Amino acid sequence: MNPFQWDACPLCGGGDVHEIGPITYRQPIRFSTREIALAHTPMLFECRGCDSWFTQRIVPQATAFLLYETGASSEKWADTPAFVEGKSRNIVDRLSQHIKAGKKVLDVGANTGELLDHVRSLGAETSGAEPSRASREVLTRKGHQTFARLEDVSGTFDVITAFDLVEHLYDIPVFLRRAHQLLAPDGVLILLTGDRHCLSAEKSRQNWWYLKAPEHIVFPSDKYFRKVPGFQLLTKDATYASAGYERSRIMQWFQFIRKILLKGGYDGLPSLGPDHMLLSLKKD
Ligand SMILES: [Zn+2]
Repeated sequence: MNPFQWDACPLCGGGDVHEIGPITYRQPIRFSTREIALAHTPMLFECRGCDSWFTQRIVPQATAFLLYETGASSEKWADTPAFVEGKSRNIVDRLSQHIKAGKKVLDVGANTGELLDHVRSLGAETSGAEPSRASREVLTRKGHQTFARLEDVSGTFDVITAFDLVEHLYDIPVFLRRAHQLLAPDGVLILLTGDRHCLSAEKSRQNWWYLKAPEHIVFPSDKYFRKVPGFQLLTKDATYASAGYERSRIMQWFQFIRKILLKGGYDGLPSLGPDHMLLSLKKD
């Protein structure tokens, strides 16, 4: 099920990569919503060229796409709160800075449209790319323009959002080139993903909770995004996957110490500060 290995860094293409350690997934192993069996132990690797992390011995891309296409992520995320209640304040504010009435917005990995519903409430026109058939039905029912694949998307957009997406991608450079094509001049790409340089990731490394989903395979460094051809990194905001992970610093350290003492290991939760990054990249 998981024989796929990269010969070089999947982000910068560099060959100076080395092993950090084996990744142990929780049992039963679920790829998004589908239970899978793995024949090999996945390994976390680091690229010294771009400082990114990635997993070796992963599910091949064609299998992964089939799992996404037939998965029921609409059920997995059915209890997701409305976007503004669920997301950290700095994410909501950053979106409002770029998304205004009349703008055209494409969300890649739109799921059932929580982000797009919010974008529409700001007066923007909404489109979503989403591989899951079940989720696309929900998007269409809500009235968002819907595409199965990024290759099928037509038109140009003022803003492209991709939240919790890039860590799933087998070819981030191809995604970035396609996003560049689809953006209007001065258009902005806004990405939310885990930050492998955050304190809790540095402390837990291959035991970081964020790695412990077989569909999360690449963990780019912000250093990589500073050098993407055709884009300029405007902002990097340190944030959380959702507002539910936010704690006071005192509570974070108290829970951290208790977990170390009781369980003798740290998986990055509670997080010692923000463990995600929100990046805004402007098309040059
Ligand atoms: Zn690299």
